[in-house]
Amino acid sequence: MSFMQTVGRGWDGFLGQFADLLFPSHCVVCRRGGAWLCAECMATFTSVPLPVCSQCGDPVDRVGLCSRCRVSPPHIDGIRSLFIFSGVLREVVHQFKYNGIKVLAAPLGQAMVELCAAVGGSVDIVVPVPLHRARIRERGYNQSSLLAGVVAGQLGLDLNERDLCRRRSTRPQVGLDIVGRRANVTDAFACNSEAFSGRQVLLIDDVCTTGATLEACAAALYGGGVRAVFAVTLARAHWQSVR
Ligand SMILES: [Zn+2]
Ligand SMILES: [Zn+2]
Repeated sequence: MSFMQTVGRGWDGFLGQFADLLFPSHCVVCRRGGAWLCAECMATFTSVPLPVCSQCGDPVDRVGLCSRCRVSPPHIDGIRSLFIFSGVLREVVHQFKYNGIKVLAAPLGQAMVELCAAVGGSVDIVVPVPLHRARIRERGYNQSSLLAGVVAGQLGLDLNERDLCRRRSTRPQVGLDIVGRRANVTDAFACNSEAFSGRQVLLIDDVCTTGATLEACAAALYGGGVRAVFAVTLARAHWQSVR
């Protein structure tokens, strides 16, 4: 680390402590002091009920594949999500993604660690779903990168947020049907095969709806020679409810 980086980090730390004094942390949901997301509000999040489809991770009535994956199974080795995207969690994700409350990455990423360890027992590298450069410029950060950073740190795995990229800007998936979602992200991603050849990847995203984005990322990674791709997302939007 260069001298200027060291100074920069120290200055960031100082500013962070100063900001804590001026703006003490308070829960983004209930405004209670002491944490950006309090334990009581986190306890209201609904876990994805088991069993789930062994491929896409959607809740199913009995163990095995869901009706969608029976017809056309995704190529990705498996997707799992921690919470149902509803209620208070929707508001928390909105604050995290669009209102600049980056500190929410710590409690949300921490919540994902156990599921990531269970799903990705053999993975050796953690990769966030990338945003396009234009979106990063506009938002200032990639929320999935922040989550991936927490997961990689906790599991002691390499984090690579540079070598899978979004090569074209895609319109938001909201409002598109499943065919539209797939078409919207097909070929949207590219990877540097030198970074991933022979690796087993844990892909991280905030919300999964149909899995089309994860599948498109996985396609790019498989093209780069990875051995396997598993994905874990913080939340699962119920596909039936957005169709
Ligand atoms: Zn709270
Ligand atoms: Zn499925």
